[in-house]
Amino acid sequence: MDVLGVEEIQLSGNAARLQAIINVEAFEPPPFSFDPGEAPGEIFGANVFTLAEMRLRLPKSVFKSVVATIDKGAKLDPAVADAVASVMKDWALSRGATHYAHVFYPMTGLTAEKHDSFLDPVGDGTTLAEFAGKTLIQGEPDASSFPSGGLRSTFEARGYTGWDVTSPAYILENPNGNTLCIPTVFVSMTGEALDYKTPLLRSQQAMGAQAERILKLFGHKDFDHIVSFCGPEQEYFLVDRHFFLARPDLINSGRTLFGAKPPKGQEFDDHYFGAIPDRVLGFMMDTERELFKLGIPAKTRHNEVAPGQFEIAPMFERANIAADHQQLLMTTFKTIAKKHGMECLFHEKPFAGVNGSGKHVNFSLGNAQFGSLLVPGDTPHENAQFLVFCAAVIRAVHKFAGLLRVSVASATNDHRLGANEAPPAIISIFLGDQLADVFDQIAKGAATSSKGKGTMIIGVDTLPELPTDPGDRNRTSPFAFTGNRFEFRAPGSGQTINVPMIILNTIMADSLDYMANVLEKAVADGEGFDEAVQKLLTEIITEHGAVVFNGDGYSDNWQIEAAERGLPNLKTTLDSIPQLVTPEAIEVFEKYGVFNARELHSREEVRYEMYALTVNVEAKLTLEVGSTVILPAAIRYQTELAQNVAALKAAGVDADTTLLSTVSAPISELTAALTALKTALGAHGGDTGKEEAEHAASLLPLMDAVRAAADTLEGVVADDLWPLPTYQEMLYIL
Ligand code: ADP
Ligand code: MG
Repeated sequence: MDVLGVEEIQLSGNAARLQAIINVEAFEPPPFSFDPGEAPGEIFGANVFTLAEMRLRLPKSVFKSVVATIDKGAKLDPAVADAVASVMKDWALSRGATHYAHVFYPMTGLTAEKHDSFLDPVGDGTTLAEFAGKTLIQGEPDASSFPSGGLRSTFEARGYTGWDVTSPAYILENPNGNTLCIPTVFVSMTGEALDYKTPLLRSQQAMGAQAERILKLFGHKDFDHIVSFCGPEQEYFLVDRHFFLARPDLINSGRTLFGAKPPKGQEFDDHYFGAIPDRVLGFMMDTERELFKLGIPAKTRHNEVAPGQFEIAPMFERANIAADHQQLLMTTFKTIAKKHGMECLFHEKPFAGVNGSGKHVNFSLGNAQFGSLLVPGDTPHENAQFLVFCAAVIRAVHKFAGLLRVSVASATNDHRLGANEAPPAIISIFLGDQLADVFDQIAKGAATSSKGKGTMIIGVDTLPELPTDPGDRNRTSPFAFTGNRFEFRAPGSGQTINVPMIILNTIMADSLDYMANVLEKAVADGEGFDEAVQKLLTEIITEHGAVVFNGDGYSDNWQIEAAERGLPNLKTTLDSIPQLVTPEAIEVFEKYGVFNARELHSREEVRYEMYALTVNVEAKLTLEVGSTVILPAAIRYQTELAQNVAALKAAGVDADTTLLSTVSAPISELTAALTALKTALGAHGGDTGKEEAEHAASLLPLMDAVRAAADTLEGVVADDLWPLPTYQEMLYIL
């Protein structure tokens, strides 16, 4: 039984459509789990084994050691691990946990968990709750069911998980029992990364170390590690679950493979500015409550551009925690949407012709003491430091645009990226008018040194005060400066933010390293520091300024201009994947210890595999739904029309056969397109992952042809015979 009191069976076509409409009308939201006596924020982090909780429970010295591991990156002492495990177990048991799970992020981009009971039999017929430090810091799930991209063929199937001390353990509640979840890395026997967290932590460390060199040059002493921060804005769609269940394409591929454009699209913008529907608000309040309990700081929520589309933005956090929280957020959304009789869609393009969903990755670097290092600051000195970090971003994005592009490439995001209403596949930076002007001056050398009264004022010192929040936001740019951070808008709504963060950290490490080398040498050579900064900024903006673009990223002109500027325009996933293993990519990843060449090749392999899998499933679904759902409905209607023509003729009435031909023509097209798709699907895909992926890509136009004929039919077949919920229904009935 679902929440609407209706069996969740797949009702046949038209019946499902009507049933869904009736149920949406009759919908009673589930009771809201809010206790009016509760103080605001009281539940925040209630299910998290926080530092505060640890401080309460651990001896002072042990607690200090844990904090040092988190803040200074010190190694976790095994004796400390034992002490932590013991209090963590007590806390978890007191919160009703019966099991613990090492949670990790395999290369599929999903979340994996291996659950174990706390209870160990002790031989006298009883059990004892055991949880040693060793168990906390290391687990051994069988790695064979996760893709390894060839890393496994030479090593045994075993994989190891290890606790990420910087990401707190938490309790996941379930009506059937609670589980203590421990965020972990997942590596092979030889320490090669089989997951996303390992390289993220490695890249974080590399970036931090280089950023710290720059800060020291600016005279800072004794500060905590510099980390990257990330605030991921998540866009998603909600559809009524009855429509969802009547859509085999949505169930199995997350997007509609069929569906004509609705008469009313998003042109009115009435959804974006409208109030959040009650039903959705109920869902949002419920999810936020769950997120709060898990210590996830959900902050803003609103409608998005498309009907049925919404957004949530949690407060930014340290990148690895933000990434863990992001995965948890998606799981929570899926679960709670079901409770509210809806399905939450994270596909990048669930509805063709309607706005797609992204995940805007807001990126900055800094620490608690400095805040974001991408804040312009009040004094000229701070401005100069800010400009150095900003220039590092410009250099990184220009030099490694291909890596940023591949960080967001997937079969599903291909329907959004590079398409009309989404950020283009060209990676460029939007700086805003004021900051762009500052860099223009720096490039022209106009802002180099000018003599002020009595004191030497270096160009950077005379730069105008920078606004902390530039008003104009360019929504067409894939990478925009937004006052105290850069917003990377190309990531897809369903993807993990680990990958873009790994790439950003690594390429920033490269830039900061380069800049620190130049500045350290200048200082050693006795050059003035301010002059050296000035010279370096001019050099960087001259060499890498081509990546800065403040215009309309959606215009055709930009495609031409970008080519003239020599910026890569990698339109598809298959165009992008080779970027992972170019000599420059391998060099930069190896240099900063983020990936070795083998790990990169394994990721390349997994990318091809995932691409081929995704497209093949869609192609098979297109064939199946086209042949068994749409074609039969169309033929039924065709028969009805033919019988009508025959009956009229028999009665001696002049029969108009126009309508019959209007239906017969797309039926022939559909039949032909299905045959072509079937033949192509039957062909051998290839011997390597790359060949299989290329074969899969060749199916896409054939699927489009099937869809075109089917969507034409949707416009002519009698509505009571049409089996699939329409765009209109799915998007507007909530
Ligand atoms: P908008 O819709 O205007 O882009 P939102 O409030 O929806 O803004 O989302 C902004 C996101 O950026 C939030 O997740 C926020 O926490 C994050 N953010 C703010 N400051 C920083 C920062 N310094 N570093 C990283 N992320 C940040
Ligand atoms: Mg936003």
